[in-house]
Order: sequence, then C-alpha cells, then structure tokens
Amino acid sequence: MEELAEIYWKPLHHIAERKSHQVIARLERRGMHGVFFDTAARAVDHIVGQIPVNAVVALGGSMSVSQSGLLDILRRMPIQLLDRYRPGISAEEAQEMRMAAMHADVMIASCNAVTADGRLVNEDGVGNRVSGMIFGPAQVILLVGVNKIVASLEEAISRIKNVAAPPNCVRLGHRTPCAETGFCDDEHCLPPERICCQLTVIEANRFPGRITVVFAGEALGF
Ligand code: SF4
Repeated sequence: MEELAEIYWKPLHHIAERKSHQVIARLERRGMHGVFFDTAARAVDHIVGQIPVNAVVALGGSMSVSQSGLLDILRRMPIQLLDRYRPGISAEEAQEMRMAAMHADVMIASCNAVTADGRLVNEDGVGNRVSGMIFGPAQVILLVGVNKIVASLEEAISRIKNVAAPPNCVRLGHRTPCAETGFCDDEHCLPPERICCQLTVIEANRFPGRITVVFAGEALGF
C-alpha cells in the first residue's frame, strides 16, 4: 500500500496542486478568487466557514456539493437554505426557490469545467445555476474537484458534452443520445430531453470578492 501511495497517489496529488495553483493565479487576474485544499473534506470545512449565520443560501445543481457531504452540512447549519433537493418538494416550490435564489446572499455550486487560463465554463438545462453565477447572489462559492481543470475552452466544452452530460442525463432520466452512447450527438438531441441549453463562459468578474473557486485536490462530481 505504501508503494502504491508513492508511485500512484503522490504524483497525482502533486499535479493536482500544481494545476490548481496555476489556475488560481489566472483567476485572480480575472477578478476572481481561488483557494486550494488537498482534500474535499478540507475544502468543505473552508466553505462552511465562509457562510454567515442566517444567510439565505441558494444551491446550483451539483453532484460535487452532495458527494462531498457539503449539502448535508448546509442542511444542519443555522442558515436559510433554499433546498430544492429536499425529498418531497413540489415542482412549484422548487421553481419558487429558483426565482428566490437570484436574491440569495450566497450561492453554492460547482463548475462543469475550469480552463487553465482561468475561465469558468458551464452548461445548464434550465439556466438558474448559470444565472446565479453571473448575476444575483452577492457571494458565489464554487466547489471544484481537480478533475474539472482542463487545458482549453475547446476541451472544456468537450468535457461538458462527453464526460459530464452523459451520466447526468442517466441520473436525471433524460433519454438523450449521450445517455445511450456516452458521446454527444448535438444534431439529434432535442428538447425537452436535451439538458445542454445554455452554454456560458465566465471570463472575468468586475466585483472583487464575489466569486471564489474552492479547489479540492481530488475528483468530485461528473
Ligand atoms: S447536447 Fe444532448 S447529446 Fe449532447 S451532451 Fe448535451 S444532452 Fe447529451
């Protein structure tokens, strides 16, 4: 086991940290903030410490937030969580929360991809997640596993279409071409099944401190 840690995990952790620190430097130049933690648990602890008591907190749909345990912690915190994932919630209530999220104090989400030069790339099916990231909540905190860092904008879009979307379609029960084959077939993918509807690139932020990307040195989400 010790040998495996030395020849497999140690190089991966080394590269994860290097990649994250390069991206963080690029984010800062674009008016965004970034921090790196070697584990998801430490990243989650940091995020929890950033949320004021009684804050209204919105959620962008994210496997990373639930997989890391952050969602469970948020549910126990003394905050007003707009929890669209609460079991038994009605479609009307979920829609009201999507609208209320635009006025939340804090938004918690992840990112589909972050480019090496510091751009945040996302694609939504409804648009509430990317809307909140772009305009609305005063503070946006994104939990991002190192698996989401990519070399270029082209790679980011390919990641969304061929890595993130296929399992998300399966998870959400959408019968899309990528759910069948594992690869995007844009031409033959139509609403209402299609989940790729609003492709956004956040290139910069003019409000200092509004967007923070919290990198975890392990894989999170799709
Ligand atoms: S456009 Fe359709 S087929 Fe392509 S990744 Fe998105 S949901 Fe899948």
